Amino acid sequence: MYFTDYHTHTRFSFDGAPHATIDAMCQAAIERGISELAITDHMDIFHLQKYSYILDCRHLYPELLAAKDRYKGRLKVVIGAELGQPMANPKEGRRFLSDHPELDFVIGSVHQMENDLDVYYYNFRKHDPVQVYDHYLDLLTEYAADYDYDVIGHITYPLRYMAEAGFAVNIEQFLDKIENLYRIIIRRDRGIELNLSGFRQSMQTTMPAPKLLKLYYECGGRILTLGTDAHRPEDVGAFLRAGQDIAYECGFRELTTFENRTPSFHKIMGK
Ligand SMILES: [Zn+2]
Ligand SMILES: [Zn+2]
Repeated sequence: MYFTDYHTHTRFSFDGAPHATIDAMCQAAIERGISELAITDHMDIFHLQKYSYILDCRHLYPELLAAKDRYKGRLKVVIGAELGQPMANPKEGRRFLSDHPELDFVIGSVHQMENDLDVYYYNFRKHDPVQVYDHYLDLLTEYAADYDYDVIGHITYPLRYMAEAGFAVNIEQFLDKIENLYRIIIRRDRGIELNLSGFRQSMQTTMPAPKLLKLYYECGGRILTLGTDAHRPEDVGAFLRAGQDIAYECGFRELTTFENRTPSFHKIMGK
C-alpha cells in the first residue's frame, strides 16, 4: 500500500502544536509507514496585511528544503502550503506564490469569510447555517475559477463547526452548486482533497462526505489527494486507510501526489 498524507501542519502554523516540529512530523510519518508527507502550513491571506504576516516563510521553506534532503530514501517530504482565501488580497496571494517556487503543492482553502473572520469563530445561533454554507460555496467557486491552486481543500469546512455546535444542514439543496464547483475544478485540470480530520471530530466523516466524493468522481474528477490535517505528530496518518477505502468505494483507483506542482498517480486497492 502506498500511503500519502497530503495535509499537515507544523508549529510554524499559528494553530500547530508546540511539539509539532518538522522532524517530529516526519518521524511520525516514517513510523506509520507513510511514503509521502506534504507539509502544508497555513498561509491565510488577510485584507490589509502582507502575506508574511501569518507565517515565518523565511525560516519555514529553507527548513523544508533541508528536510527534503535529510529524509531522502526514507520519506518523500513534499513542500506544500495551505493558501487561504487569496481573494481577500489577490496581490499578496500571487506574491506569495511567485516568491516561493520551491512549492510542490498548494491546497486552496477558504477559512475566513467576512472581515477576515474564520468560520471557526462563527456562532451558528446568529449566523444562519444554510446562508453561511451557501456563501462559502460561492467563495470556493470564485477561488476555483480565478486563482492558482492544485487541490481545493475541505470543501465542507463550515459543516465541521456546525456539527460541533449541534447544527446540520441538508446537503441536497447544495448539490447543484457543488457540481458546478467540481466542473470548474475539473475543467482547469485541478483537484480536490479528501480531508480526514472529521473522523477526529464531531462530524465523524470525511470532508467532503462519501456521497459528495462520489459526485466528484461521476463528474469526471480524478485528481484527489488524501490528508489528515494533522496539527501534531500524534495525528499524522490517522484514518488514511479508511480514507483510501472510501475513495476506492467511490470509484477511484488512483490517488494523486505532487512534485513541483505537477500531479502523478498511484494505484490504490480496495479492501
Ligand atoms: Zn484548512
Ligand atoms: Zn489545514
